Amino acid sequence: MQFDAIILGAGPAGLSIAHELQRAGANVKILESSDRVGGSIRTVRDGEWIIETGPNTLQTEGDADLEILNGYGLKNEMQFARTESAKRFILSHGKLHALTAHPSSLLRSDLLSFTEKLRLASEIFRPRKSIPEESIQDFMTRRFGKAAADLLMDPMVSGIYAGNPGELSMASCFPAIHALEKSHRSILLGLMQRAKMERRIVGFKNGMQQLADAMAKPHLERGALEKNTRITEIKKGGATWTVSWVDQTNTSHTATSTRVIITLPHWHWSQLPLSEKIKHTLNPWHQAKAPSVTVVARGYNRSDIPHPLDGFGYLVPSNENREVLGCLFPSSVFSGRTPKDKVLLCSFIGGARRPDLAAQSDEQIGRSVDRELSETLGIKNSPVKEWIQRWPQAIPQYDSKQSTREKLLEQIESEHGGLHFLGAFRHGVALMSVIRRGHTLAQWLSR
Ligand SMILES: Cc1cc2nc3c(=O)[nH]c(=O)nc-3n(C[C@H](O)[C@H](O)[C@H](O)COP(=O)(O)OP(=O)(O)OC[C@H]3O[C@@H](n4cnc5c(N)ncnc54)[C@H](O)[C@@H]3O)c2cc1C
Repeated sequence: MQFDAIILGAGPAGLSIAHELQRAGANVKILESSDRVGGSIRTVRDGEWIIETGPNTLQTEGDADLEILNGYGLKNEMQFARTESAKRFILSHGKLHALTAHPSSLLRSDLLSFTEKLRLASEIFRPRKSIPEESIQDFMTRRFGKAAADLLMDPMVSGIYAGNPGELSMASCFPAIHALEKSHRSILLGLMQRAKMERRIVGFKNGMQQLADAMAKPHLERGALEKNTRITEIKKGGATWTVSWVDQTNTSHTATSTRVIITLPHWHWSQLPLSEKIKHTLNPWHQAKAPSVTVVARGYNRSDIPHPLDGFGYLVPSNENREVLGCLFPSSVFSGRTPKDKVLLCSFIGGARRPDLAAQSDEQIGRSVDRELSETLGIKNSPVKEWIQRWPQAIPQYDSKQSTREKLLEQIESEHGGLHFLGAFRHGVALMSVIRRGHTLAQWLSR
């Protein structure tokens, strides 16, 4: 069997590359180790409930992203977040403070004191500085002051990376914002210009799994995507790569290609039968963290929740010393997620702050969520439903060593022509960013 590309992993990265390569006429093979497609995408259907225990939404930037999603045949299946859910809450001193994307909401809110707001606004006058591998915490404190770093950026980092802003690299985690200091001197001025780009929060009528299934469908139908596989050989001879695997019946297969694309998360790379030289170069990736997160999705009677749930959800800054990182209100964002008069809440526990908490028993985690939701949303009654998803390794943490690790991948790619790495471990963890990069790589390979 000979293919134009062999892709390892059928998560969003692998499926997006496969889609675009196939569209350009390439003959691709996708090998997935698990019995499902979609990787971190994980929608649970339970009667009338639609629950996301992986990504809840994705964010598009401009029409090009919507075009990509339309290309999966999902134009009429997309859901856009209700405008009422534009509000995000931040917990501070036990109280939820509402913010929107509009800067005036921050000025009106009492999340920051008058002096702290002035310090934040004075960012437009601050000179440029270039500090290599500056942490998110240091960068934000230098530009906007400690209060803004603690109360605005810290919870945002928690919401995206489940990470610690003191450990993560600003340049690796938020390259576009980081670059504004160089290009515009002021981040605020730069952001005002970027605000023209239309961003939309997107979901799908049957949940995010609908996206993964649509991405996988043509490949499954052609027999090009195999699940339950175990890779037993990856080796190169001349310009040709040979990949062997066993399927679920323990039958061995071998295929050749000029391209092998690795999209599985870095914590699975040690399972791959790569050459000793490549394995050696990949060694520093074993130290790259991806702390555990446990997702607790709960269904409640609407009448049991005093809070109006009039937003996307809330995030908790580290200095609140809480056990829950944040809680989303998915049934406020999209319609059709619950039976009538019920609501859905989705809480996150663990991450870089307290990975130990994510490993607690269901009962212990349940008690933490009970306490949290009682204090923040005033919920006293028990949920009518609960779904718990454990992610022993959830989101890659781009710390100060990330750029060095990324250079090692570039080195491998240049020394071993035809081998490529693409996924959330590199250049961005957001779902849409992973898919967009999959399309870009496929287009580049098709030239
Ligand atoms: C709990 C959680 C919530 C999130 N929320 C959001 C959100 O709201 N919005 C957002 O934009 N992003 C979110 N993300 C991030 C986003 O989901 C991921 O960054 C994205 O799914 C990564 O895609 P990927 O293809 O790189 O990796 P994955 O999704 O991890 O897929 C990798 C695939 O490789 C397969 N694989 C593993 N080992 C092997 C092997 N040896 N051989 C073959 N295949 C293998 C896996 O089974 C999997 O199918 C969230 C992530 C998590 C975990």
